Amino acid sequence: MNTEVVIVGGGIQGCSTAYHLAKRGVQVTVLEKDWVSRHASGVNAGGVRLLGRDVAEVPLSKAAMALWPTLDEELEADTGFRARSLINIAADEADMETLYKRREVMHGLGYTHEQIIDQKELRERLPHVSPFCVGGVVSETDGYAIPYQSTLAFRRAAERHGARFVEGKAVERIRKVGPNWLIETRDDRYECKHLVNCAGAWAEKMSVMIGDNVPLTHSAPMLMITTRMPHFATPVVGAVSRPLSFKQFENGTVLIGGGSKGFADRDNNRTRLDYKKLAIGAKNVAEFFPIMKTASINRMWAGLEAYMPDNLPVIGASVNAENAWHAFGFSAHGFQMGPIVGQVMADLVTGSKVGFDLHPFRIDRFERKVL
Ligand SMILES: Cc1cc2nc3c(=O)[nH]c(=O)nc-3n(C[C@H](O)[C@H](O)[C@H](O)COP(=O)(O)OP(=O)(O)OC[C@H]3O[C@@H](n4cnc5c(N)ncnc54)[C@H](O)[C@@H]3O)c2cc1C
Repeated sequence: MNTEVVIVGGGIQGCSTAYHLAKRGVQVTVLEKDWVSRHASGVNAGGVRLLGRDVAEVPLSKAAMALWPTLDEELEADTGFRARSLINIAADEADMETLYKRREVMHGLGYTHEQIIDQKELRERLPHVSPFCVGGVVSETDGYAIPYQSTLAFRRAAERHGARFVEGKAVERIRKVGPNWLIETRDDRYECKHLVNCAGAWAEKMSVMIGDNVPLTHSAPMLMITTRMPHFATPVVGAVSRPLSFKQFENGTVLIGGGSKGFADRDNNRTRLDYKKLAIGAKNVAEFFPIMKTASINRMWAGLEAYMPDNLPVIGASVNAENAWHAFGFSAHGFQMGPIVGQVMADLVTGSKVGFDLHPFRIDRFERKVL
């Protein structure tokens, strides 16, 4: 089967890339071994977060943030996006010190989207916060969206522009045949000019077949959600130095993250929860917000996520093969960047000018010194 572009992976990066390519009239096929949005892109916390980003990611993340508020219109779908401020709470003066230092760095780079707030303002914004919290930092434009809906919104919009999605087909072999790529699943072969690796936690396997080495690892971040509670927090909440992260949805349920990890069984597509760590996470939330002592946990889960050693993604060209492109390794914060990553990948594939410095995201940055 011939097509101009094959994308491996039907997560948000693959679907967004397919959308942006198809919209430009490029013939694109997405191969997904399970089903679209089955993994990280469908089960994440939906945090649309610019606050606290590594400075290398800020330009991309800011550009993504500018897209989220009008994404429903663009994709003709409901992503569930809600603009809410995000507050990272300072638990003590050492945290405030960290914030002042970061403010200097950010202001030095011309970024002013992170505003430090004092204890009084923290309390005004989050009346239920524990008295020991001394302040925090806020990004007013952040928010959340519903991950499964958002990823499917990209898929459907891509399909409306002619993209093809093939589910239940794992890519098993990739090789060069003349100037083209030959991609094989168990039953089918696809020949294409460009290959895009959006294979998430499995992406280093694709990289090796393409000819690139990458120190990608994977893990299973966990989440839990409560039953409905009285409304007590409008902003999304995190902490400067503690593993605290939660958001209260409009229906009253509270989604609790915090980055603790369960057990990943990637080869079998499975995760197992670490209940001890989840209990610590729950205790932590209740320490910051005593009202959470009354919460009942309704459901817990984990997802398989790809991590790079510096927690920055790989976005860009293969260094060892022509017409192969990578977007993976988002290290538990790639959902927010999905809308812009697809645009960047489409620029790369079509040879258009990319408006971002992708140097920090090179696949070979651990082999060669990034200057
Ligand atoms: C619990 C959890 C909470 C998170 N919270 C947030 C958050 O609040 N905010 C945020 O911005 N990010 C968050 N993230 C991170 C975010 O979900 C990911 O960074 C993002 O979804 C990655 O998208 P992806 O398309 O690269 O990967 P995926 O969604 O994993 O998609 C990759 C796809 O490739 C497919 N694939 C792999 N190998 C093959 C093959 N050989 N052939 C065919 N298909 C293949 C897989 O089946 C998979 O569907 C969280 C992640 C998790 C797990």
